[in-house]
Amino acid sequence: MADFFDQICKVILESDSRDPGRVRPDAVTAQFFQSVAPVQRTQISAPESCRQDIPVKPEPRCGTEQISADSLEKLQFALGDCRRCQLCEKRNKIVFGEGSENARLMFIGEGPGFDEDQQGRPFVGRAGELLTRMIRAMQFTREEVYIANIVKCRPPQNRVPMPDEVEKCLPFLKKQIDIIRPEVIVLLGSTAAKNLLNITTGISALRGKWTSYENIPVMPTFHPAYLLRNESAKKDAWQDLQKVMARFGKYHKA
Ligand code: URA
Repeated sequence: MADFFDQICKVILESDSRDPGRVRPDAVTAQFFQSVAPVQRTQISAPESCRQDIPVKPEPRCGTEQISADSLEKLQFALGDCRRCQLCEKRNKIVFGEGSENARLMFIGEGPGFDEDQQGRPFVGRAGELLTRMIRAMQFTREEVYIANIVKCRPPQNRVPMPDEVEKCLPFLKKQIDIIRPEVIVLLGSTAAKNLLNITTGISALRGKWTSYENIPVMPTFHPAYLLRNESAKKDAWQDLQKVMARFGKYHKA
């Protein structure tokens, strides 16, 4: 069976090009809608709400460095050839983040993996390919969103970043958010959610529930790498992403 987000994209592309809004009764569409219950429009209440489903602790646990930069270029200059934590010793390239400085939508993952470390770009491996399809299914392009990580250097063997590594790196991510001021942030996986929101709740309990960071609406969802290992969770992630789409007035035409 084709990838879940491939199917969504196929349905979107077909309805875009032929008759926007019309459900095409071809086999792929039928298979998709039989296997996955689409989110009903009435269930998507995000646009009118700033409602927070998850309480956020006010005090920051991590991220103490004060950085003054009013553009991403200046921030990257301030980061420099960073040696603030031990991750610098084994990294190949710093993965600063990429996308539009004016992005309305921002995605935050955990940290670079092998491919990202090689290329110096976020989400370019297999998980990145899936993220790109998720973004496309949300009717955005990679170029118009912004993609970053909790830490900017690859943890050895792709382990979870340590608290002291996060503490050194988080001020730069927070400054990126401050400069971009996206309308919505999507947090990909537990590490992103725990560290940006300063909570210990696991992603299964957090996902799909609106919360906020610095008054910016935040939607936690599963990490694409998890989705690659757990095909059945893709329908949950897709429901979460549709809530974000609704916030932008975008709807999957079902
Ligand atoms: N996983 C992440 O969390 N970030 C990346 O950039 C790549 C994979």
